[in-house]
Amino acid sequence: MAIPSTLRLEFVTPEREIVHDDVDELQLPGEEGFLGILPGHTPMLVGLKVGAMWYRKGAEKFHGFVGFGFAEVLPDRVTILARIAENADDIDHDRAEAAKRRAEERLAEVARGRVSEMDYERARIALLRAITRLQVSRHARTRS
Ligand code: ATP
Repeated sequence: MAIPSTLRLEFVTPEREIVHDDVDELQLPGEEGFLGILPGHTPMLVGLKVGAMWYRKGAEKFHGFVGFGFAEVLPDRVTILARIAENADDIDHDRAEAAKRRAEERLAEVARGRVSEMDYERARIALLRAITRLQVSRHARTRS
């Protein structure tokens, strides 16, 4: 079978469609590490963690945020079902800065022994989401 020349990318959350396009290449934040995908990739199902993703279309690279989910990879198609996701251009930088500060304050409370292990884990993931959004939104500004 001939290797397809592009990948059809369907990237959705339960709330909205993030990307629906033909792309040349993409990278996803897999649970086991970042995963690069080109047309003709072996079929697989990948669990996604909180992280940055990007896809390339010709000479242009687009960045996005993923907050857990799954991706089905087929030779000519990638379907991403993310619990939470945003395109870099849609990330509100100030909101992410505020979320980062709140998470840092909660982690400081944990360090003082005032909140539980579970609150620690929640605050840790919230901080990771905020830092990742800030990183992704910076890419949107530089277009790198
Ligand atoms: P916040 O405390 O600011 O709500 P959060 O990390 O708790 O941040 P999430 O639970 O990850 O937020 O997301 C809830 C909804 O808000 C999702 O639809 C997500 O896409 C959106 N969202 C969260 N933060 C931002 C942001 N900085 N810019 C744009 N959309 C965001």
